[in-house]
Amino acid sequence: MITIALSKGRIFEETVPLLAAAGIVPSEDPESSRKLILATNREDVRLVIVRATDVPTYVQYGAADLGIAGYDVLLEHGGVGLYQPLDLAIAKCRLMVAVREGFDYFAAVKQGARLRVATKYVESAREHFAKKGVHVDLIKLYGSMELAPLVGLADAIVDLVSTGGTLLANQLEAVEHVQDVSSRLVVNQASLKLKRAGVQPIIDAFASASAHHH
Ligand code: ATP
Ligand code: MG
Repeated sequence: MITIALSKGRIFEETVPLLAAAGIVPSEDPESSRKLILATNREDVRLVIVRATDVPTYVQYGAADLGIAGYDVLLEHGGVGLYQPLDLAIAKCRLMVAVREGFDYFAAVKQGARLRVATKYVESAREHFAKKGVHVDLIKLYGSMELAPLVGLADAIVDLVSTGGTLLANQLEAVEHVQDVSSRLVVNQASLKLKRAGVQPIIDAFASASAHHH
C-alpha cells in the first residue's frame, strides 16, 4: 500500500491533475466527504487528508510515503527525514513583510527601531530579519495575521501573498519580499528505498506532469 498525504483546498485541487497523470483517481472529493482516508481507483494507493502544516510530519514518520506541502510549511518544519525530489510549481505565492498603509517600514528599519512582527512563519521570519540586520520581536499567530497591525498587536506581519487582495482589503501593503513559495513533493526516505517499485513511478509521473522539471 502506498499512502499519499494531502491537504484540502488549493493543494488538493491542484494535485488532482498530477494524480491523474500517475493513473490515480480519488474515489471521493475531500471537500464533501468527511472521511480522512480516501480510496482511489488503484487498490495499492490511498490518500490521507491532513492539515497543510501536518503533511511533512506524516511523511517524516512514514505514516504517509509521499506528500505535497508548501515550501513555506517545509521551511518551518525543517525538512528532517524528507526527500524533496520535485518542485511541483503549484499553489504559487510569495512570503512577504507587510505593514499598515502609511507606516514607513524602511525609515523604522533605518532608525534601528525594534519591530514587533506577527506571523505563523516564525522560523522563516527570524532568518529573514537576521539576514537584514533588523531587530524584531516575533509574535506567533495561527491565522488572520492581517488583523495584527490594525489593532496594534504588531508593526508588521510576515504572510503569504498571492494577488494582494487581502492586504488591500485591510489597508496593508507589502514592503519586502522574503521567499517565493510553491508546493513540493516530499517522500519518506525509507519508503523510497523499501517501496521504490511503487513510489518511483509516481514521482516520475508527477515530474513529467508538473509545469517545470529539475
Ligand atoms: P487553513 O487555511 O485551513 O488554515 P493553511 O493556510 O495551512 O490552512 P491552505 O490555505 O490550503 O492551508 O494553504 C496550503 C498551502 O498553499 C500553503 O502552505 C501555501 O504553500 C499555499 N498557499 C497559501 N495561500 C496561498 C495563496 N493565497 N495562493 C497560492 N498559494 C497559497
Ligand atoms: Mg490558508
